[in-house]
Amino acid sequence: MQLYNTLSAEERAQLIDEAGKQRLTLSFYAYAKISDPKKFRDELFIAWNALDALGRIYVANEGINAQMSIPADQIEAFRNTLELYDFMKGIRLNVAIDQDDHSFLKLTIKVRHKIVADGLNDETFDVTNKGIHLKAQEFNNLLEDPNTIVVDFRNHYESEVGHFEGAITPDVETFRESLPIINEQLQDFKEDKNLLMYCTGGIRCEKASAYFKHQGFKNVYQLEGGIIEYTRQIKEEDIQSKFIGKNFVFDHRLGERITDDIVSQCHQCGKPCDNHTNCANDACHLLFIQCEDCKGAMENCCSTACLEITHLPLAEQVKLRKGLEVGNKVFRKGKSDSLLFKNSGDLPNKPLAKAETKNIRQKISIKKTLIGKAEHYYTRSKIAQFLIENNELSIGDKILISGSTTGEQELIITEIFANGAPCETAKVGDQITFTIPFRIRLSDKLYKVLG
Ligand SMILES: [Zn+2]
Ligand SMILES: [Zn+2]
Repeated sequence: MQLYNTLSAEERAQLIDEAGKQRLTLSFYAYAKISDPKKFRDELFIAWNALDALGRIYVANEGINAQMSIPADQIEAFRNTLELYDFMKGIRLNVAIDQDDHSFLKLTIKVRHKIVADGLNDETFDVTNKGIHLKAQEFNNLLEDPNTIVVDFRNHYESEVGHFEGAITPDVETFRESLPIINEQLQDFKEDKNLLMYCTGGIRCEKASAYFKHQGFKNVYQLEGGIIEYTRQIKEEDIQSKFIGKNFVFDHRLGERITDDIVSQCHQCGKPCDNHTNCANDACHLLFIQCEDCKGAMENCCSTACLEITHLPLAEQVKLRKGLEVGNKVFRKGKSDSLLFKNSGDLPNKPLAKAETKNIRQKISIKKTLIGKAEHYYTRSKIAQFLIENNELSIGDKILISGSTTGEQELIITEIFANGAPCETAKVGDQITFTIPFRIRLSDKLYKVLG
């Protein structure tokens, strides 16, 4: 029985591209009593591997915590694998807003002591005595209450790029550290204030709320499903977002934009920016915020020291790493003396800048006609394949390619191959290919821009 990944990340990325199928990035968790986590792990691996499900999953005696990428057409089959377990019947799957087919490239299910490293001794308090769950609108209402204290239970690099207005954002690297700090800081408010807590997907608050009730807080509330579910609800119900900026996520996208506010700075030049990156020096890999200009000048490195190292021959880089505390910066998660504009602890509630978003009105004013849809993208050769379903397309035409992951991309057609042969004008029914400087996705729409 094959219970481990047999493909490398690169091989997997290529397979996903060749399959050309859309994938959904999602997360879920459940606290439950699992007597044999190892057996549970193996069952899940077999079931999910068969569905081509990928992701990073932790299982423990106390439950499951999963971040995953699922082929969109397998979502029902995936749900069925969860429904087999009583404690996951009807479970809410938090589906990410921006979809990326490459969010996860392996299926990794690990058995852990706990599903979240909370540092709590669960025997000492009642973990089921949780705070009151709030939906987005209820959360907003309580935020308005002057008697409310709102606490961000995420880490400094998460709250830095986005947080609720007025939230206390502890300067911590782990969830474990934030619990005693908050307990200490809010000592005098246990009786009369509303303690409102939130995190990314709700899992951290699930136990933290029980912990704070045990510590004597009388009015404890938590954002149900965390920022991810909050975002879904404000979009669906057209509620004003009281969360500003980006929601940091743990897959390679590193963040989902919630509002167009930028609340953080490039750590190197101080310009408003909220794009996280990892230092290009493999021995460093520091998580930090870097603007496009600094990325160019510093070649994706966090410091001149790292930049110099990346210019050495590989063999020498490897030699340098030996005997060095390599893990040091990696586990310091986003703090280094060379970063001058790193902010943590007290964060601004006023946006520093607005992210550039395409003006919707402008988009509508572009006159265009639908030509067809994307059938394939050849990653290596950067060739796109479309099927023409309406009208026709000629060399010199301006086209617009549009899709949820691709966005809206315009370009002028300089060559067309119809059914394998070069041609001037392609007609309905033709399968056309041409090279394209960006990746497209299956079912992206192809338009001809008019006038
Ligand atoms: Zn910069
Ligand atoms: Zn570095």
